[in-house]
Amino acid sequence: MIYGARVRQARELRGLTQTGTAQGAGLTQGRIAQIELTSSVDIGDEHLERLAQTLKVPVAFLQRPPVDDLAEGSMQFRARKSLPAGVLRRVRREAEITREIARHMLSQLQAPSLRVPDLRGMDDIEEAAQLTRSALGLPPHGPVPRVLHALERAGVIVIALETWVDGKLDAFSTWDGAELDLPLVSIGEGSSWDRIRFTSSHELGHLVMHRAPGGDLNALEKEADQFAGEFLFPREDAKEEFSKTVTLSRLAPLKLKWGMSIASLIFRAFEVGAIDQKQKTSLQVQLGARGWRKQEPGADAREPERPRALRKMMELLYGDPVDTRRLGEDFPLYVTELNRMVDRYADTPSRQIQKLTSAPFGRYFAARRSGAIQSTRLISNAAKPSPGSGRGLSAAHTFPVWVVIRGAPEASHGRVPAPARGAGTRRHVSAVASSRTPETRGCIVVRSVAICRILGRSRTSLGASL
Ligand SMILES: [Zn+2]
Repeated sequence: MIYGARVRQARELRGLTQTGTAQGAGLTQGRIAQIELTSSVDIGDEHLERLAQTLKVPVAFLQRPPVDDLAEGSMQFRARKSLPAGVLRRVRREAEITREIARHMLSQLQAPSLRVPDLRGMDDIEEAAQLTRSALGLPPHGPVPRVLHALERAGVIVIALETWVDGKLDAFSTWDGAELDLPLVSIGEGSSWDRIRFTSSHELGHLVMHRAPGGDLNALEKEADQFAGEFLFPREDAKEEFSKTVTLSRLAPLKLKWGMSIASLIFRAFEVGAIDQKQKTSLQVQLGARGWRKQEPGADAREPERPRALRKMMELLYGDPVDTRRLGEDFPLYVTELNRMVDRYADTPSRQIQKLTSAPFGRYFAARRSGAIQSTRLISNAAKPSPGSGRGLSAAHTFPVWVVIRGAPEASHGRVPAPARGAGTRRHVSAVASSRTPETRGCIVVRSVAICRILGRSRTSLGASL
């Protein structure tokens, strides 16, 4: 026996039509339509096999009792105009299935307590953003080091989607459940690091302010943008940073510091009254003239943030590395699909390092034991390789090395601080990778420690390229 709702869910997830599905399953389109409308039905083993194959799901998936559809949430605000309905359905179904897996796991774990404030109807958007910063345990001022991390710590489930439509729908959010007890933010891969930060802050704004959306949808979009601006770059900070003449060259370092695109910074400068409409337009024109609308400088200055919580839950319940075969027994999807899902989330910090450095694990742990590394996170793609021109720290090595650098504060990505360049640094060259492959991954910053791979570059250029 299979459930009609599951057939429809899988079909929409795969972006198939009823006709296409019917052909694959050896049934008629009318029959598929009928099945989808029926609560549960028996279609015989042979058709069932073929139907499941066509939908690329195990038979057990179709036999699993369905749960409620995922609410459309903020998807209705901006995507509807620009995306075909089939694509939207696909994205929504994917989030829906991931949500079901998440709920299944959450029921067995102690979830972080929900700290997303309910600020419906609040007129002052920036105050709403400030209250949210506070609710999330962020200080009123300063950059938000990791937006997705802050969301996940506040109990938001961040879903990394496989289905994606570049530039048309970066993210959407929704309150799930009859009690609206589970906030979800779904994000797509492929967005730039600054865009991921902005859109997830924007979605946070929807979660906080627009639980039951209605009215002028464009106005809600603007509110969410303003929320994101204040959340990432509080007014008082912005006024201070923009106190001198705002020029494009001044904005470039601010992008790295505050983790916002130059285009958003221009808008923020206008919002806080640091520039007028004319200056704003002029800066936007300059942005276009330099070709920065298509690609801004600093596009690979940081690694895009990736969600972690879902994978962490899987690791807790299904082992680390995640045993997707066991996960597949609890939630019937093919292992290949579950593996791809796991890979979309951030790995355990220790393996991130191993992957990036190719350094033997032992060295990494030695570095940890010495206190040089506490925990890790990747912040940046740094130097590009230029073999042969090695000087400074890397001079003694003929291949890429990783160094552990003390004293790089987490929020400052501007440059390697002075202690890193001193002789003392050598003591901390604990994680030396012997990889000869010209990988160009950059720096990992851990609380006050940065691990940087130096690819035959002088110290100065490393500093500049961070
Ligand atoms: Zn929106």
